[in-house]
Amino acid sequence: MLNQAELHARVVARQIQRTLAPFGLFPAGSDQAIVEVIANQSNLESWSSPTTLVQIDNAEGQPIGKSTNTGSYFFPPDTSLTPQRPTKTTVADNILIFDEALVENGRVVAVAHVGERLDAMQQVLTGARDILLVVTIFALVVVVFASIAIASLVLDPVERLTEAMEEIGSEQLDRRVRWTSRSDELGRLAAAFDRMLDRLQDAFARERQFISDASHELKTPLTVINANAQMLRRWAERDDRIRADSIKAIIDESAGLAAMVNGMLLLAKADSGEQIPKEPVDLSAVAREAVDFLRDKAHQKGIALEIEAVPGAFVYGSGGLLRQLFTNLIDNAIKFTERGGVFVRVRSEDVTVIGEVADTGVGIDDEALARVFDRFYRADKSRTRAVEGTGLGLAIVRSIARVHGGTVGAARGAAGGSVFWVRLPKEEHIESQ
Ligand code: ADP
Repeated sequence: MLNQAELHARVVARQIQRTLAPFGLFPAGSDQAIVEVIANQSNLESWSSPTTLVQIDNAEGQPIGKSTNTGSYFFPPDTSLTPQRPTKTTVADNILIFDEALVENGRVVAVAHVGERLDAMQQVLTGARDILLVVTIFALVVVVFASIAIASLVLDPVERLTEAMEEIGSEQLDRRVRWTSRSDELGRLAAAFDRMLDRLQDAFARERQFISDASHELKTPLTVINANAQMLRRWAERDDRIRADSIKAIIDESAGLAAMVNGMLLLAKADSGEQIPKEPVDLSAVAREAVDFLRDKAHQKGIALEIEAVPGAFVYGSGGLLRQLFTNLIDNAIKFTERGGVFVRVRSEDVTVIGEVADTGVGIDDEALARVFDRFYRADKSRTRAVEGTGLGLAIVRSIARVHGGTVGAARGAAGGSVFWVRLPKEEHIESQ
């Protein structure tokens, strides 16, 4: 502020100097000449302004003219100025005073005092500061209230959502938040929560179904075993035929029971996903192993069992589980085929490896097609009663495919029979080597 004031004072002093310059020598002490040329009232008024005061002193320091806005104020006389040191700046009584000697021919003939009123500036600054203060406080209040409003606008729904989520405990899985009217992030969160509940409810229902199916499936052979054991106790000593039949029934049923428990264990293992150790596996090799394992069974039934597999069809997974997958598919195909044969094919497409098991057997109807992969499902109970099985084989196939990131499917074969396939992602790294 002071710099600004001094700069302005210098500019005014320069104007006074310039007024003096065109005129010749002033006789020493001729105040009258100085008054006429420079210190006349119209000059003084033109240099002054509401914040700028002007006064001209003679060489002896006596005032010879001053602007009217100085009123009763007189600048302190300054006779210390010389042609060598012609200017001086001081601050007194809230006025910045800039003194400049008016020099003629190496002689100080007069002194111009230019005063800048600092109090006026001070007032402007104080006013500005006050306005700033009021505006800042006002803005602060607005910001605080706006923040509270925005926060409650955002947090209210979060609170309501949290309450809704807390109310929906594990006991009320059928309830939903259902915030379909909101399309913002919270609406999406609520929708995601609802979808998660859908999945949870499905999973719980599936578990319940599995337990009830499993107990039902286990109950039948256990009842048969129990009944036969009682028969043995009552009749075994008297009737050889009953004894032989009962023992056979117990052996068959307990073997079926063991197969079913094994199947359930395998299913649990296949469903455990992440915990299964995985490595690059050649699906063709695995399919061949399954074919070799079941070749005798096919021969005994008098049907063909053939395989056509491309070399190096690598997938990333568990060799044991994938062998089980093929064994289940081929075993089924042999079971449900009386004439013709079973044909296994492993081929490779862009990013997948496809394993196919086709047969010329009984085929599957539409209703069965939709359900063959369900746990404990066996098409046409009356027919399959004669054929051994647990109804878990294909459920295991699907679970194994799933943990390998693959899919399964079934269809009626073009020339009768049925085709089952599994589609697994390729093990890229090994493939490219
Ligand atoms: P399981 O063979 O132990 O009964 P699966 O889960 O393996 O159980 O098969 C379920 C049902 O799917 C079978 O009972 C049968 O009805 C049908 N199925 C499976 N494979 C074939 C096939 N190759 N041909 C005809 N039907 C089949």
